[in-house]
Amino acid sequence: MTQVSFCKWAQSHMIVDMTDDNELFAQVPDQTGEWHKVSIDESGTVPVPTHCTCRAHKNAGTCFHVQIVSRFYNRIYKSNIAKAEAKQEQKQEAQSAVREAQLIVKRSSIELAAQKRAGSLPRNQGFSILRR
Ligand SMILES: [Zn+2]
Repeated sequence: MTQVSFCKWAQSHMIVDMTDDNELFAQVPDQTGEWHKVSIDESGTVPVPTHCTCRAHKNAGTCFHVQIVSRFYNRIYKSNIAKAEAKQEQKQEAQSAVREAQLIVKRSSIELAAQKRAGSLPRNQGFSILRR
């Protein structure tokens, strides 16, 4: 398996769970077949992996497992953010469409009134002049 497809595999197989203290964590498999527990801080807008039980994390401060969790949440929240933005855009489009429609209605009623005036008044005047 390539590194990229293993990352995908690990993301789809990692297990997110809660500790007894209601703290979020993930069990993440790596290419050695070991599973490690990654603690996740979900207090921010996007959950962030903070700690891993593996040796690499202890030595380097980061590791494969943490990266998997981080990628997992970035992927999920990216689509959420994109969806939220798309929704917002649709809302704005709908609002501007409504505004436009209101303007058209307003304009056409003004035009209608103007046409009525223009169409009826002079003609009536004309008729009345003729009649007189
Ligand atoms: Zn680790």
